[in-house]
Amino acid sequence: MSTIAQQFGMTEALEILGIKAVNEGTSTGGQWFSGGELIESYSPVDGQLIAKVKASTEADYEKVMQSATEAFKTFRLMPAPKRGEIVRQFGEKLRQYKEPLGKLVSYEMGKSYQEGLGEVQEMIDICDFAVGLSRQLHGLTMHSERPSHRMYEQYHPLGVVGIISAFNFPVAVWSWNTALAWICGDVCVWKPSEKTPLCGIACQNIIAEVLRENNLPEGISCLINGDYKIGQLLNRDTRVPLVSATGSTRMGKIVAQEVAARLGRSLLELGGNNAIIVTPDADIKMTVIGAVFGAVGTAGQRCTSTRRLIIHESIYDKVKDAIVAAYGQLRIGNPLDQNNHVGPLIDTHAVELYNKALAQVVAEGGKILVEGGVLTGAGYESGCYVKPAIAEAKNDFAIVQHETFAPVLYLLKYSGDVTEAIEIQNGVAQGLSSAIMTNNLREAEAFLSAAGSDCGIANVNIGTSGAEIGGAFGGEKETGGGRESGSDAWKVYMRRQTNTINYSTSLPLAQGIKFDL
Ligand code: NAD
Repeated sequence: MSTIAQQFGMTEALEILGIKAVNEGTSTGGQWFSGGELIESYSPVDGQLIAKVKASTEADYEKVMQSATEAFKTFRLMPAPKRGEIVRQFGEKLRQYKEPLGKLVSYEMGKSYQEGLGEVQEMIDICDFAVGLSRQLHGLTMHSERPSHRMYEQYHPLGVVGIISAFNFPVAVWSWNTALAWICGDVCVWKPSEKTPLCGIACQNIIAEVLRENNLPEGISCLINGDYKIGQLLNRDTRVPLVSATGSTRMGKIVAQEVAARLGRSLLELGGNNAIIVTPDADIKMTVIGAVFGAVGTAGQRCTSTRRLIIHESIYDKVKDAIVAAYGQLRIGNPLDQNNHVGPLIDTHAVELYNKALAQVVAEGGKILVEGGVLTGAGYESGCYVKPAIAEAKNDFAIVQHETFAPVLYLLKYSGDVTEAIEIQNGVAQGLSSAIMTNNLREAEAFLSAAGSDCGIANVNIGTSGAEIGGAFGGEKETGGGRESGSDAWKVYMRRQTNTINYSTSLPLAQGIKFDL
């Protein structure tokens, strides 16, 4: 353990979370096993090896699936509010483990400790939401066209839900899915990112305590570990009616096709290319805060990170100067130290992609306004710390059309009315988060209208980054179309059944069809 990690209390945190030097990577709840190769988890904070995890083999996967399908047989019959009680207890455990889990998220993924705690808070929030929802899995009733008939629809659990998650939200995405899936009566098999396997082990240990304390069977919460190959087993398995996959668009296209090939359902939460429109009526101070946090928070590694600023020419220089000046204030370094604003990228491969993006924007005719670069020397030994960069660019540059998962912000200019800005904002393949900064009601409403933003999230006078769990979260186009978390996102975890009950003494057919015997 490095000095940084020791000062931060990582040894204690790992112990509390049940992380060993070498961990079994497969679990059906309380039971752990694994026959696969070792995955080594290095911290991007200091480049140190944190611990190892044994990957799951196909045989391990098979054991997990048997356990999950068996558990579903009993779990589906438990009353939904009782399942809500399990999720309530899980939320309580998360409160208890919030600090060590927040620390692990921060150390293994590289986001700030505040953001690590925030991620665990999101888990707690979705548990609270799901508990209430467990008494509100409402269907509709309809009037039957036939006399003495009753008609209604009800929602039943789906079965085994496969969850594939990305490195950048190593714990929250799992809970957005599981908290809802569990109250709906599904059982879950989770494959975390191979870049953050320890977060998966820690979460599984926490839920296992709840399941044990309630004498629930193995199989309700399962964990598998490994790279895309183990994820593909979920894609192709007809025993998995729903695969919820969060990650790159490249991954989502493969998952979507493999799941669709067996007519399964997929819930896709993929890449974004998020923009803020800054109109002549924008509050510049608010714009700068929203844009800078959106672009450099989590070192630009949020699916909702701000990648493009679309600024009206009349205020372009003012906004540009203010943002460039704000970048001059940024402190880059150890994310466990609350004085720093920007932590590391996840690994050196991400650093390569960042360097390539900066070279490409220049090659395409862009102009660098704030120089990037990789930091070296004391405190930067992991090789993952980069300077947030800003470039003037055009929306049709290939690199601007692409999601670079790093702190690179492109400034784009528009000269007409808000319609032109909306066209630029919508002129990318992705459709996750979008925002407009304006005090002009007409501009705001145009942005929110059917001819406005084509994204799943559209904000006024708020940046693109971050979302509350109460709303449905997700995006359109190459972001995949999925919705999870709040609102009625629960419906995707259930199957809908229409029921018609005849309490008469005859059998009238629908549409007045006569069939007399
Ligand atoms: P990634 O696509 O490299 O990996 C994501 C997960 O998919 C990993 O667990 C990986 O092992 C798995 N995977 C890869 N190929 C697979 C396949 N063929 N079958 C099954 N599983 C497969 O993404 P990443 O680098 O971990 O995360 C960054 C990306 O995730 C960014 O594009 C970001 O925008 C996106 N993201 C989106 C959301 C959202 O809600 N829209 C949230 C977080 C991250």
